[in-house]
This record gives sequence, C-alpha cells and structure tokens, in this order.
Amino acid sequence: MNLNSSSIRKAVAALKKIDEQLAYLAALTAVGIKPLSRWEKPLGDEPEGWIGKLDLRTSAVSRTVQSGGKVTETLFSRTEAYIRFYENCFADTPIDKSPLVQRWEGFLFGFPPCCVNAYIQQPYQKNDLEPEDQKILFHWACEGCLITPLLLPEYREVYEFVAKL
Ligand SMILES: [Zn+2]
Repeated sequence: MNLNSSSIRKAVAALKKIDEQLAYLAALTAVGIKPLSRWEKPLGDEPEGWIGKLDLRTSAVSRTVQSGGKVTETLFSRTEAYIRFYENCFADTPIDKSPLVQRWEGFLFGFPPCCVNAYIQQPYQKNDLEPEDQKILFHWACEGCLITPLLLPEYREVYEFVAKL
C-alpha cells in the first residue's frame, strides 16, 4: 500500500478528522506493520467506510466485562484470517489479560515476543527508548530490544505521514 496515493491520503485524512489515533492505527495496519488492530469501541458507518477504502476488513466483536456489561470492539486487518481467528478466540468472552491472551494478542497486533514476555513479567520496565519513540508504539519495548529498533523507522514514517495530513 502506497501512503502517497491520493485516495489513501484522502481516507487517512478523513479518519484523522474523526480521531487522530484511529487514523494512525488504521494507516499502520494498512501498510502491514500491524497484522490486526483493535479499536476498543464501536465504529460508525463513516469511519468504517474510510477504513474500507484502505483495503482493510473490519469486524465488530462483543465482549463482556467484569460488571457483566458488554462492550464492542472493532477489529481491522488486511487479512480476513486474523479477524476470523480473533473472533473464534474472543467473541462474546470476558476481557482477559492472562499471559496466554497477551501472547496471542501480541502476535496479532505485531508486538515483538521479547517485549510481550517482559511486559507479562513486569509491565513498563525501564527500556532504552527515547520517550518520543516509545510514545508512537503500541507495545512497551523490552530493555535491549533487538526488534523494536528495526520497527521504529516504519512506525515513525507512518506517524509523520499522519501528523502532516
Ligand atoms: Zn523486545
């Protein structure tokens, strides 16, 4: 996916007007940095339409919370199989932050496994990233990470693309 095509720029700019974080997440997923993304609320028809213009499939998944209530998550991915997998594992289930679930989510969301393991042992341990690098990621980098520095230029490029729209 070429971020500089005019139809892609138009769709990401429209999403940015609705929510900048949603636009960033959609663009990261559209270029393939993240296999699947989860927006932790329902999407209206308009943002869903723009996400579709980025060649992403979407799905609304209902989850339950401890109080017994229900919440709707919106998934998007270039790959139908990742959406189906998430639905099969998690649709209509309670929100769960167990280590096993964190590992599945890390795989789906494109998080390095070393960072996921470090986070499971203890969240937000000291790492070597500059705060302005850490803040554009969706995972907390582990100390001495070998993967995150390779991903950062890709995240940075998409982040700046969205910021400049
Ligand atoms: Zn790591």
